[in-house]
Amino acid sequence: MSDQENWLTEKLHDHYAQSLRTDEMLYDSKTKHQRLKVFQNGTFGRILTLDDVVQTTEGDNFIYHEMLTHVPILAHGATKRVLIVGGGDGGMARAALDHKTVEHVTMVEIDAGVVEFSKEYLPMLSRGAFDDPRLNLVIADGADFMRDTDGGFDVIIIDSTDPIGPGEVLFTDHFYGHAKKALAPGGILVTQNGVPFMQGDELTGTMRAFQSLFADATCYLATIPTYAGGPMALGWGTDSDARQVPLEVLEARFAEAGIETNYYTPAVHKGAFALPPYVSRLIP
Ligand code: SAM
Repeated sequence: MSDQENWLTEKLHDHYAQSLRTDEMLYDSKTKHQRLKVFQNGTFGRILTLDDVVQTTEGDNFIYHEMLTHVPILAHGATKRVLIVGGGDGGMARAALDHKTVEHVTMVEIDAGVVEFSKEYLPMLSRGAFDDPRLNLVIADGADFMRDTDGGFDVIIIDSTDPIGPGEVLFTDHFYGHAKKALAPGGILVTQNGVPFMQGDELTGTMRAFQSLFADATCYLATIPTYAGGPMALGWGTDSDARQVPLEVLEARFAEAGIETNYYTPAVHKGAFALPPYVSRLIP
């Protein structure tokens, strides 16, 4: 590369890096917790990085957000209360609040800076979610919140950074145990669990914890271009049989929800749980 200074190189993995061209750096500063950058890229639009790791992009965030909200919410079928841990850009809250059945979303984000800068530089992700009266934004460590909450959530979504820095605590057995207690009966926990081809240990660790906590513990897959290395694993833990909801029922719920999507369909939902052997072997 001749113009090194115009590329952001993400070095999340030991033997692999990805570079994204920074057509225009819109923001680059340190929050209380992390170094935050927002820049413009010709393929992905605006990109948010924390400590030089891609968090979300204007172009491909819909895949991640749709699959971590619509899958558990529609599988559950009567989701009223949602908890999001992380999610500071507001895209996850937006997708959860798109469901008419959802009466209340609590979002617990450790870094007020991510929320503030996302409101200013990435409003196309939250699309008004921060002003929705159904949203309760809490600035706190998600692990502390989870330990102390009274719970009663139908769906809990862990929209965290990778298990480095402030996000590390969100991948522990302790945290998952508290998350299980925070679920209402029939509730579903979903997590971002990295790209299994690159971060297999991360998936194995979460799945081991889920198996000791839930009757149904597995993961499902979604391919998000900027989370490089193949499909991303999204952890799934519940004591209900929500994964077995028939396709026709999902189709009826999706039609009733009246939500426009770019990735999610009930058929994609069902197919996402079909795991290739290299992934299912990572589940103990
Ligand atoms: N989808 C992204 C990914 O997989 O790369 C992550 C999205 S980003 C919204 C994740 C958010 O989790 C960040 O805003 C970060 O500040 C927040 N976060 C990290 N550790 C946290 C913690 N312990 N409690 C609450 N939020 C946390």
